[in-house]
Amino acid sequence: MKILPWEGSTVFPALCATLLAWRKSAPDTRDLPWRDEPTPYHVWISEIMLQQTRAAVVRGYFLRFLEALPSVRDLANVDDDALMKLWQGLGYYSRARNLKRAAEVIVEKHDGQLPKDVDALLALPGIGRYTASAIASFAYGQPRPAVDGNFLRVAARITANPIDIAKDTSKRALEAALASSYPTGRDAGLLNEAFMDLGATVCLPNGVPLCHTCPAAQFCLAHDRGTEQDYPVKAALKARRKERRTVLLLSCGNRIAIRKRPARGLLAGLWEYPNLEGKLSKRAVHAHIESEGFDVCDIAPLPPARHIFSHIEWELTGWAVTVAAMNEPPLMAAEDRTDAPSSLLWVRRAELADTYSIPAAFGYFTPQ
Ligand code: SF4
Repeated sequence: MKILPWEGSTVFPALCATLLAWRKSAPDTRDLPWRDEPTPYHVWISEIMLQQTRAAVVRGYFLRFLEALPSVRDLANVDDDALMKLWQGLGYYSRARNLKRAAEVIVEKHDGQLPKDVDALLALPGIGRYTASAIASFAYGQPRPAVDGNFLRVAARITANPIDIAKDTSKRALEAALASSYPTGRDAGLLNEAFMDLGATVCLPNGVPLCHTCPAAQFCLAHDRGTEQDYPVKAALKARRKERRTVLLLSCGNRIAIRKRPARGLLAGLWEYPNLEGKLSKRAVHAHIESEGFDVCDIAPLPPARHIFSHIEWELTGWAVTVAAMNEPPLMAAEDRTDAPSSLLWVRRAELADTYSIPAAFGYFTPQ
């Protein structure tokens, strides 16, 4: 099979011109609020939110975030728990922390304005090549292709290229091949939108791409050969590690016990319900809680849950445990902590919804 390398490919100038015309000719029906006013701050926040979540879900988060934190300075000064609450449900909480750290640097070094220079953007916490290019093109009109997985999939199909799109070198090769075909000004962002929209609505990742409606079909080698679904070629995924944990919904009157996870590692610094390694029986849970100094009034099973992280899968067993009194000082510490032992915090049920951000991995056990 003839393989068209991206570098030196002749298809990109005509492809980019066609997609730009397509983007300009069709009304934008995707209702993405960050496109209405693509300021550097809006582009940045939306792109970080969009990294693992669908645009339809991000829309509400984005509007809520901007209402609470309308500027870089507001983000730099936000309280950590308030930030986690705004991020709750989006996952990957380290991204929210990086947003705040980057905002602090922007205030300190760039007078509160996101820099125009791509190298300066790349120096900020949590900003990689894709996000830097998105900000540079959408907000500053620079000719930078914002190459993400969707973009790579479209390019791999159009050129019938079996390149491994998970590799950073593939991304850089595509950026280099496209660079001279990119316009400046508003068109730079519009062309990136065209590639994004094509990947999201026509050249679909799962299932059959909608080639009969595709503006790039005339250029598409995979379509010409009828091999659209052979691309992109994916390297075998590494199997996730499976772990079992037992989660304890410890209550006393109207209060529930939560604690903070270690400052490093999985779900670092987030609130959680006390939990233990392994799948513990009712008898084992009872013995453990009493050994921590509590009087157990009742133990009832909760529906089991499964939570999948990128590299780990948790099989979760839950127990609702009612105790006679709240211990002071609290005794239960996670066995996997690497920093100072945590304390239990006894919070009102309403506060769980309004104030504290419990990540989805533990949220299965939050009382309704
Ligand atoms: S013709 Fe089909 S496979 Fe090729 S880019 Fe368009 S939708 Fe994707």
